[in-house]
Amino acid sequence: MAIVREIESGQWALACTKVSVVPHNAAPLPDFTRWPSFPFEGDLRVKDLAPPVAVEPPRSGEDASDCVACNTSDDAYIWFSERWRVRAMDRPTGLPMVLILECRSHLDLGDLPNLLAAELGVMTVRLERAIRSLDGVARVHVNRWGDGSAHLHMWFLACRVRRSGQRRAGPHPVGVARDFLRFSDCRYVGHRTHISTELT
Ligand SMILES: [Zn+2]
Repeated sequence: MAIVREIESGQWALACTKVSVVPHNAAPLPDFTRWPSFPFEGDLRVKDLAPPVAVEPPRSGEDASDCVACNTSDDAYIWFSERWRVRAMDRPTGLPMVLILECRSHLDLGDLPNLLAAELGVMTVRLERAIRSLDGVARVHVNRWGDGSAHLHMWFLACRVRRSGQRRAGPHPVGVARDFLRFSDCRYVGHRTHISTELT
């Protein structure tokens, strides 16, 4: 294939060079897809990047009047205080427990004043301990993405389960491993009650 090349003299010239066509979407998979904890296998492909935009599109609930969190009463939460609330999923997710920590004020992570920023650290540790106190839970993943809803919400996922004398790969936060679907039963309700008691 002929391509244009700059030669030493600074002039441009046609040169004959063999080039191969870059296959569509040839981006390599990130290393974490090879971690033991990654729950998926088979052919995976990196999605193409969306074109850059001049202005970031609005997220759900950018305005407090439209914010689901701000418009949800305390009854929907398994624990709440003057400045923080903890929500559990309405139905089993396949994991032993999934919790969401929200500040009561309509703020995102970078907007937190020092008091709430400091309390976020304390609340993070409290929730991690509470979830880890569930029978069989050995590890808790803590995540904040911030791409969906504008109101700060931190995800807490019970992600590795202790088995007697046996270590099993836990699910990655973005998915649910098949082995954990057995937790999708009435134990989930008991787990929610346990967490509520632990935080009180
Ligand atoms: Zn809000």
